[in-house]
Amino acid sequence: MTEHQYSGSCFCGAVKFEVSGAPVGMGYCHCESCRHWSAGPVNAFTLWKPESVRVTRGSDSIGTYNKTPKSFRKWCRHCGGHLFTEHPPMGLIDVYAAVIGQLDFKPGVHVNYQETVLRMRDGLPKLRDMPAEMGGSGTALPE
Ligand SMILES: [Zn+2]
Ligand SMILES: [Zn+2]
Repeated sequence: MTEHQYSGSCFCGAVKFEVSGAPVGMGYCHCESCRHWSAGPVNAFTLWKPESVRVTRGSDSIGTYNKTPKSFRKWCRHCGGHLFTEHPPMGLIDVYAAVIGQLDFKPGVHVNYQETVLRMRDGLPKLRDMPAEMGGSGTALPE
């Protein structure tokens, strides 16, 4: 079976990784944590099972910070470039769409839209917080 494989790296290239298969989900998160951590108005996420993500270079250069037990944020200690966030309660890893080169990013949903600072009128569902199957309300908001 041939599997899709994508390579990614931090800003300086000291850390390299591969993701294989297909993401479990893709979309945009508008929460304050994502905005503050990324220093951007929105985070484009792609969620993968942990076994789909493999660090191929520079694993000793990866820094980790967890403000909460829900999110372990990873970056490169040399350049400060962000890599991914592990979400142990979900059993998934958010590999930022921006750091996976060739991935065809196809967002399906906006989450935590009640916190948005950048409205995006793209016709995709806008969830107040998180999908019901991920412990959220699943409530949709107007764009
Ligand atoms: Zn780096
Ligand atoms: Zn977020």
